[in-house]
Amino acid sequence: MQDNQDVTKKEQYNLNKLQKRLRRNVGEAIADFNMIEEGDRIMVCLSGGKDSYTMLEILRNLQQSAPVNFTLIAVNLDQKQPGFPEHILPEYLDTIGVEYKIVEENTYAIVKDKIPEGKTTCSLCSRLRRGILYRTATEIGATKIALGHHRDDILQTLFLNMFYGGKLKGMPPKLMSDDGKHIVIRPLAYCREKDIERFSTAKAFPIIPCNLCGSQPNLQRQVIADMLRDWDKRYPGRIETMFRAMQDVVPSHLCDTELFDFKGIHHGSEVIDGGDLAFDRQEIPLTPVGWEEDSESKSQRLDILEVK
Ligand code: SF4
Repeated sequence: MQDNQDVTKKEQYNLNKLQKRLRRNVGEAIADFNMIEEGDRIMVCLSGGKDSYTMLEILRNLQQSAPVNFTLIAVNLDQKQPGFPEHILPEYLDTIGVEYKIVEENTYAIVKDKIPEGKTTCSLCSRLRRGILYRTATEIGATKIALGHHRDDILQTLFLNMFYGGKLKGMPPKLMSDDGKHIVIRPLAYCREKDIERFSTAKAFPIIPCNLCGSQPNLQRQVIADMLRDWDKRYPGRIETMFRAMQDVVPSHLCDTELFDFKGIHHGSEVIDGGDLAFDRQEIPLTPVGWEEDSESKSQRLDILEVK
């Protein structure tokens, strides 16, 4: 009995720690990008996956102590995929007392009709979804649209663009929507996917499966996700350092002539961004820059290694 109580206490302690970390990550992202302002009405896009549930939970949590007043409205788009359990989200949202709107649009039928069998449906599907969500944001008077992408999604996108798109381009934590009318924010931009996974499991969110449309998973993204997961296990700190690199860009040491005036460098110009010392004189640190493994991650990593 005593043992059980100790386990539960420990679980609760770990959950509190995890929640604090997620809150801190979200709070920092909100502050760094000025994501939320006084009086904002934030449309929280809720798909029924772990990320969007976590985003809603942490935003609700921050609402209690934030220095600015803002309101939340959860929006789910029911795309009429076969087997979509329509009762789950309304029941959950009623229980936690969050204002919400379920938008019903049969994009599934449109996609099936327009895209030949065997071809990928995601690009039309997400275009339709985006349009509906923007329209809904206008209808409900939302000032911001919050999406549940996290740090690992952002890094995956960076690598996808590098490997396949020939662009150094990730996923912005805050942006103007492509119709120029809405501000989109990603409050989980600094959160690790593994934290979100653990939080979602501990909170027992009623997850809705994401493969109801029957579409193939994006194989290229999957390959990159596996690569990053593998690096994370074998080289602790690498993911953190790569994300840090996205926040510390040196255009004069890349090759984009639009971003930096290389032609303007002449005899007599000043040394720019330290010149070219990085790879010949400077020592490259063996441990990732500015990264320290916390005790919890270390014990998780060692557990994984021991299991192997
Ligand atoms: S996985 Fe299915 S629901 Fe998601 S974007 Fe692709 S087609 Fe649409």
